Amino acid sequence: MSLPRSEEHELFRQSLRSFVEREITPNVLAWEAAGQIPRELFEKVGGLGYLGLRLDQDYGGGGLDFWYTAIFVQEMMRCGSVGVPVSMLAHAEFATKVIDRAGSSHLKERFVRPAAAGTKIGALGVTEPGAGSDVAAIRTRARRAGDDYVINGSKLFITNGTIADFVTTAVRTGGEGYGGISLIVVPTDTPGFSRGRRLKKIGTHAADTGEIFFDDCRVPAANIVGKENAGFRLIMEGFVGERLVLSVIACAQTRLMWEEARRYGHERHAFGRPLLANQVWTHRLADVRTKLEAAEALTARAIDLHVRGEPCDAEVSMAKLFACEGTLDAARTCAQIFGAMSHMEECRMARLYRDSLAFTIGAGSSEMMREIIARLTGLAVGGKSRE
Ligand SMILES: Cc1cc2nc3c(=O)[nH]c(=O)nc-3n(C[C@H](O)[C@H](O)[C@H](O)COP(=O)(O)OP(=O)(O)OC[C@H]3O[C@@H](n4cnc5c(N)ncnc54)[C@H](O)[C@@H]3O)c2cc1C
Repeated sequence: MSLPRSEEHELFRQSLRSFVEREITPNVLAWEAAGQIPRELFEKVGGLGYLGLRLDQDYGGGGLDFWYTAIFVQEMMRCGSVGVPVSMLAHAEFATKVIDRAGSSHLKERFVRPAAAGTKIGALGVTEPGAGSDVAAIRTRARRAGDDYVINGSKLFITNGTIADFVTTAVRTGGEGYGGISLIVVPTDTPGFSRGRRLKKIGTHAADTGEIFFDDCRVPAANIVGKENAGFRLIMEGFVGERLVLSVIACAQTRLMWEEARRYGHERHAFGRPLLANQVWTHRLADVRTKLEAAEALTARAIDLHVRGEPCDAEVSMAKLFACEGTLDAARTCAQIFGAMSHMEECRMARLYRDSLAFTIGAGSSEMMREIIARLTGLAVGGKSRE
């Protein structure tokens, strides 16, 4: 991907690369089996400054832009287990960045500083059993009681849900619809907060995913992020970073699968010659590579607009849609060349394949991306076009 290549970026990439090779890649199989990455890894990565890249320097962050996050994601992805970067990014980018952006100095001191250091782990709790794509339909309620909010409800599919120290939680503080939603930070040692089971997923095994419950869970009113009933907008603004992260993850995953397929296609022989001696395979993999380059270009353009502070909702949605759908297509092609081996747990391609399946769902599904693109480009009837 055409990321900026200043000397500083390159130094950052090189030090991260050797860290991943040394501290992460050798442990990936153990963490996949455990269903989570260890708390010590957050502390190690945070101690090196990697978790706070985009966070406020006054609260232990690096004050850097999204290009550094993109390099962080690309290098983490080289470990070959999507769950590792997903868990770290759900913590740093999804759960913490919004507190950094809109929270009070009190909240930043309590949650952004330890999150940047990796001593507290965060999760973002939006999705519920009855509300996923339709964020405005959430039902978890926070009732104001003096200087506190009392929260009742539950959240589902929450990354880091069973290991988090705090959950940045979407709650209903007002009436129906998007105008009645707020974001409140809930420390997970608060009475009334409980964790359900760790969910068994078909992919991203190293990322913990869980369900969480709030039963008369009382937190200080000061834990609200921004203003009451203004949470929907914060969630939507946060989606920009989340979707860019997913776009970079998808591109990196496609590249890994393409490289694996190229290697295997040269090594594996059938009918007395390498698989890649068959034009059908060189052409298929040429298509994967071409779509990958297009996805990388779309992603780089969306990041560039975001970093320059220009409107980029349509471009981010296009990048996320194209990159994640592309990964799904690439997974099928790249697994196919492995034949039966692609079905074996011991085969790296099997993990790459199954880890690719959730990209078109998380951080806004492909259908939601198309809805945004349709609205912003004047396709949707009655939509608020920007063109
Ligand atoms: C691995 C993983 C990790 C996750 N981590 C988190 C997390 O940390 N925090 C969090 O809050 N959530 C998390 N999620 C949840 C994720 O954000 C939701 O799954 C996603 O928003 C979709 O919601 P849903 O699954 O309820 O699908 P639904 O909203 O029920 O949709 C089901 C299908 O219908 C389609 N659909 C819905 N509405 C329309 C429409 N109007 N037109 C056309 N098609 C439509 C959708 O695109 C989808 O394909 C995670 C999910 C996964 C898989």
